[in-house]
Parts: sequence; C-alpha cells; structure tokens
Amino acid sequence: MDSFFTKRTCDQCGGDLKSGRTMSAFSTACICIPCSEQEKADPEYQKAKQAEQAEIKRGNYNYSGLRGDKR
Ligand SMILES: [Zn+2]
Repeated sequence: MDSFFTKRTCDQCGGDLKSGRTMSAFSTACICIPCSEQEKADPEYQKAKQAEQAEIKRGNYNYSGLRGDKR
C-alpha cells in the first residue's frame, strides 16, 4: 500500500500505469485500468466489493481483500 502512488507497473499484468491506476477489488494490488475493467467482469466482483465495504464499516481499514494481499 505504501508504494501505491509510486509504483510504475501494474501488479497484475506488469503494464505501464501512466494511463491510470486503481486498487484491485480483490486485493490491495495496484492495477491498471484495463485490469480493473477485467475485474468488473469477474463473477465475484460484487461479492468482493461488498465484503470490502462490510470490513470498512466494522472499522477494519487494513482489509486485504477477498483474495488477499498479493505482494
Ligand atoms: Zn494491468
């Protein structure tokens, strides 16, 4: 997470992050926009988002995602 804004390549595909970056819905990985779009097509995307929001409501801001921390 500390390197989120300084990272230059996507954690998922290794692509350049010049065109934008976002947090994976499934983990704390920093991913590019095309990878993010792919995640939205994942059948578990909504579940991952809901799980994340539930954790934040409980005050857990260190939740590492449905599929964990990939680092
Ligand atoms: Zn990517």
